[in-house]
Amino acid sequence: MQHDHPPTPATSDACCCEPKQSSTLASSRRALLSASASIAAGAAAAPLLAGAALAQGAAPPDADRLLARVQGARRILIKGGLVLTLDPAIGDFAQADVLIEDGKIRELRPDIAASGDDVAMIDAASRIVLPGFIDTHHHFYQGLLRGILANGLLNPDYNRDIANTLTPAYAPADAYAGVLVTALGMIDMGTTTAVDTSQVSHTPEHSDACIRALQESGIRAVYAYWRGSGPDARYPQDIVRLQRSYFNSQDHLLTLALGSSLDANIFSYAREVGVRCVSHGVNNNTERTLLELGRAGLLRPGDEYIHCTHLSDAAWRLLKDTGAQISIAAPIEMAMGHGLPPIQEALDHGIRPSLSSDVDATMAQDPFTIMRSAFTLQRLMLLQRARRGEQNLPPLLTCREVLEFAIVAGARCAGLESKVGTLTPGKEADIVLLAVDRLNVWPLNNAPGAVVNVMNPGHVDTVLIAGKVRKWRGSLVGVDVPRILRLVQDARDAVVRRAGFRTNLLG
Ligand SMILES: [Zn+2]
Repeated sequence: MQHDHPPTPATSDACCCEPKQSSTLASSRRALLSASASIAAGAAAAPLLAGAALAQGAAPPDADRLLARVQGARRILIKGGLVLTLDPAIGDFAQADVLIEDGKIRELRPDIAASGDDVAMIDAASRIVLPGFIDTHHHFYQGLLRGILANGLLNPDYNRDIANTLTPAYAPADAYAGVLVTALGMIDMGTTTAVDTSQVSHTPEHSDACIRALQESGIRAVYAYWRGSGPDARYPQDIVRLQRSYFNSQDHLLTLALGSSLDANIFSYAREVGVRCVSHGVNNNTERTLLELGRAGLLRPGDEYIHCTHLSDAAWRLLKDTGAQISIAAPIEMAMGHGLPPIQEALDHGIRPSLSSDVDATMAQDPFTIMRSAFTLQRLMLLQRARRGEQNLPPLLTCREVLEFAIVAGARCAGLESKVGTLTPGKEADIVLLAVDRLNVWPLNNAPGAVVNVMNPGHVDTVLIAGKVRKWRGSLVGVDVPRILRLVQDARDAVVRRAGFRTNLLG
């Protein structure tokens, strides 16, 4: 594996790119800001540090009753938020309402009047309303191993400790616990859809356990079925049983894909079974095989390719021409030696990449960190090129573009763009409300900038998936957190013990 040393940080005062604002948007944003200002002025009349009454995020006493009403309602009206639809045909709104009906977005515009016993309202004042984040590559079962490889490289550390020592020690119950805590952690941080690159199918029971945990969590996921280890693995043929047992309807939150290295037999098999391929470890060392698969006509539009570091121009052209979807895990690729995250290479070849977190054995799943890494890295690389005197450079990324990578391109990469990724009437209501009225965010001056470069997972206030509330006013709904913490700790202890692995708690 190739390891690039990070370049010296730029100290350039080179120009920044501002996201475009329409005058309508700007004026309606002013309207929102002035409304917010009067709230702030009212608060100023009271003592500023008066205690619990002013505590951040304190839910009103009727929150539970309101949640019960929202959960029971056929129609939900999200009222008065700043709405980033990310759908260019609809645009964004400084203030608008979103009407959800039977789990789908029915209508989206300012001042929707909806009444009746079957409508419940969510007040979205001082909230940014946007589609849920989409993480296109995460090894969910590794939730037990968070931070265990704090300073490791892909090779030899990850391959030795995670792939060859800890992963083979997983029992089905451990896989279940790891997937469950990962999925719930993602929902908590505003990620409503993810691709689970599930390399723990040591037996069919392991695969069943992973799928059960995904189902129970309520997340929308692509289960990318992958090879496990040991004599009882049934890869890839067990995918037929999985398909029949769990993936026999288009209406489910879960869809199926076949995970693989760049292997002609597996690609052919995926075509036979009729599922997309998700390929890991795509890089300069494997690109010869990629080009061969291309020549054999085995690549299909919608297949996903992860990492894609240091590929040649020919490989990028092949990916573009075959309708490939790209997943870049910028923080992990930079920290663990995969190589330089190929954000600019993808853009240079007309591909809008999706973003992913990869493994939390080393780095957080947090979508804000991932977006920030992509934003800062692409700009650093271009600004360094400018500093060296290069002319006619591509544009610097904007916050809006990065947000689109994290959501719109994510939906495309997961093969779910007809269902999620924008707030568009007819799509499923996977919606996140981010709190703006916080001391470390307020005042709001640029919504995409706030989401990408100012906020963190602590600002995820409410999360809906397919119209069902999964997080409400700062807390996951229906989740017994202490029970799950115990379950995960016990599973971690069992895996570490079986593997004979020594953790390094104090670093
Ligand atoms: Zn990975």
